[in-house]
Amino acid sequence: MPADERASRRDAIASGLEARKLDAFLVAFSPNLRYLTGFTGSNGSLLITPDSFLFFTDPRYAIQAAGETAGGRPAIRVRVATKPLTVEVAATIARLGLRRIGYEPARMTCDAHEALKSRLPMRSSLIAVSGWIEELRMIKSPSEIDRIRRSVQLNSRAFERTVSRVRAGMTEQDLATELEYRMRRLGAEKPSFETIVASGLRSALPHAQPGAARLENGNLVVIDMGAFLEGYASDMTRMLFVGSPGSRVKRAYKAVLEAQLAAIDAVRAGVTAGSVDRAARSVLKSHGLDRAFVHSTGHGLGLEIHEPPRIGKRDKTPLRPGMAITIEPGVYIEGWGGIRIEDTVVVTETGCEILTPTPKELRII
Ligand code: ZN
Ligand code: ZN
Repeated sequence: MPADERASRRDAIASGLEARKLDAFLVAFSPNLRYLTGFTGSNGSLLITPDSFLFFTDPRYAIQAAGETAGGRPAIRVRVATKPLTVEVAATIARLGLRRIGYEPARMTCDAHEALKSRLPMRSSLIAVSGWIEELRMIKSPSEIDRIRRSVQLNSRAFERTVSRVRAGMTEQDLATELEYRMRRLGAEKPSFETIVASGLRSALPHAQPGAARLENGNLVVIDMGAFLEGYASDMTRMLFVGSPGSRVKRAYKAVLEAQLAAIDAVRAGVTAGSVDRAARSVLKSHGLDRAFVHSTGHGLGLEIHEPPRIGKRDKTPLRPGMAITIEPGVYIEGWGGIRIEDTVVVTETGCEILTPTPKELRII
């Protein structure tokens, strides 16, 4: 990620402080820190004022922080704290005479909030500011889209290399392990979430964990997997069938695929997230399956596997060019099984670019 790009994100926050009546903004949530500074460690805080960027971390990260946060103007000043970060941050706030300090309420524990508040001077106060950086993060730059595209391609290759070897009798756990091994061999940092492999009746659990069950003749198998590559997530769901599918499976599969294609078709700059969700839902309704669709149609992804916007029924967020979102309708029927198909797409002015290259037919093994 170019250091200039991160510097311009920091500028956007610094120059937005005044409109929000803030003297400073404090960021401690790892994906947001990475977005603004490049820091990939687990313990850091960035204090943004109108004319400075102060980064606090502990001695474990001293060398790493100096390297990762370098570049851009004004430069980030790294402070290696020997006391807890909240103590150092509070002392700096006092020294600089900052009064109104914005913080991320969804990203700070009550403990950390209390610890910081109790150390601030009387005249300073903490102001909750929700979703500011997340809103910037919704629109991906070309270099971010490039990373997501490569993450998606890597994930699809890992799927292909694994699935070509899958045989009946393998356990869900073995298959999940093999998928994750392939991802890493292809250069992924790690899975972007716990790989889901669910067969037979368990495919009706949208977030099943892989277990000791073996893939048996007559089973539907859900595979939902994603990788992190250079910090960016991918996410894909595909279905396998062991043996030869009956007419009910074929019909339900066709319905979910039709719903997924309709939702993809509905994606374009200017429409609301809710309208994309409704496109999927109304197809499933025409097949009598809308009540079996128990989650939203998709979600944004980037530095996190789930980030705004949510592609849900009541979401009014207008889609904008550069948003990276998943489209993943599914049906889940207790005592029968489940089917989900998921791609990652990027919103464009006139529609979307589908990043996921993997074919969408039901794979027979
Ligand atoms: Zn997924
Ligand atoms: Zn997803």
